[in-house]
Amino acid sequence: MLSHILNQRLHDYRRADLYRTRRILTTPQSVLVICDGKSQVSFCSNDYLSLANHPDVIQAFKKGVEKYGAGSGASQLVSGYNEAHQALEEAFAKFLKRDRALLFSSGYLANLGVLHALMRQEDGIFQDKFNHASLIDAGRLSSACLQRYAHGDIEHLKLLLHKHTKKFNQKLIVTDGVFSMNGSIAFLDRLTEQAKLHDAWLMVDDAHGIGVLGATGGGSVEHFNLSQHEVPVLICPLGKAFGCCGAIVSGSEILIENLIQFARTFIYTTALPSAVACAALASLKIIQQENFRREKLNYLIRYFKQAASRRNLNFQQSDTAIQVFIIGDAARTVQMSEKLFARGYLIAAMRSPSVKKNQACLRMTLNYLHEEKHIDGLLNNLAEIYAASY
Ligand SMILES: *Cc1c(COP(=O)(O)O)cnc(C)c1O
Repeated sequence: MLSHILNQRLHDYRRADLYRTRRILTTPQSVLVICDGKSQVSFCSNDYLSLANHPDVIQAFKKGVEKYGAGSGASQLVSGYNEAHQALEEAFAKFLKRDRALLFSSGYLANLGVLHALMRQEDGIFQDKFNHASLIDAGRLSSACLQRYAHGDIEHLKLLLHKHTKKFNQKLIVTDGVFSMNGSIAFLDRLTEQAKLHDAWLMVDDAHGIGVLGATGGGSVEHFNLSQHEVPVLICPLGKAFGCCGAIVSGSEILIENLIQFARTFIYTTALPSAVACAALASLKIIQQENFRREKLNYLIRYFKQAASRRNLNFQQSDTAIQVFIIGDAARTVQMSEKLFARGYLIAAMRSPSVKKNQACLRMTLNYLHEEKHIDGLLNNLAEIYAASY
């Protein structure tokens, strides 16, 4: 009986402390939220620049709804594409210094669509083992052969590239720009070198870099000063630093035309509401104009790291807004997250399959609107609860 099996699966998952539930927010996405009826300082939003609830972004969204209504009615290729979507794509192409940009309905869909459209059976995809789940899934679902190299291990990648150099027709190296589960920045300079040497393309998913890294917010490719030639496929989900939703894929004219023709997750889905495109465009303007948001965030990152080390809290090495504290055991991680919640700090417990088994962790993200007192409060409580949890 299927229902019996399904029930058993839930039971097993719960017993392994891997069961997930959703908490309910009754306030906008921000640093101070009300969650399950309780005031919390949130350290688990990817809204790094605090734009999801920014008045200009909201205003642009409202205007978009007034002008274009709620739904877009059809896929982009049928009748769902309008001037707001187009304006967003053109602004992003300029911002990212790419020839063209294409709007997808989410980062997940963009990754599935791109890998499917570009890579065929005789081709090879090389991915960092810590890549975002959407990239790994995209690699698995594509008909190309998926090869995974150890996290950040260029030597391992080299080995795989050498081994398969004749086997594959086309090769694509795929990496997160900033790894979502430990906050480290990919070695894009060294990956570009390998791509050149092995005649492979490099694809970077910069969900946690664009808007935040680089002098003008251009992300990890700006941080390493890499051109379209060096990183031919650049993915920019809009749900994080841009505080909206959707995703931009950017690159050459030929890349984008191939995606329009062959990316099934682009072709067979309803276009995003135009109002979302209007809001994302407003976010982009802020990101380009308000350098102080990045500066404040960088200050908070430095402050957080110093405050953690003063308290002898061993976080994963990270210079980004993603700060990870590994506990190991799933049950203990969940308990700590619950205890922090009881004290007014909202922190997600990351467990398998989001991270490796026995690497369960508390993942904290810093946002522009955080203040020193929030960080000190969090770390004081974390230190206390951690010490008491042995
Ligand atoms: C969040 C994320 C995605 C998925 O983007 P959505 O727009 O949320 O579907 C893809 N890649 C990375 C690296 C991400 O962090």
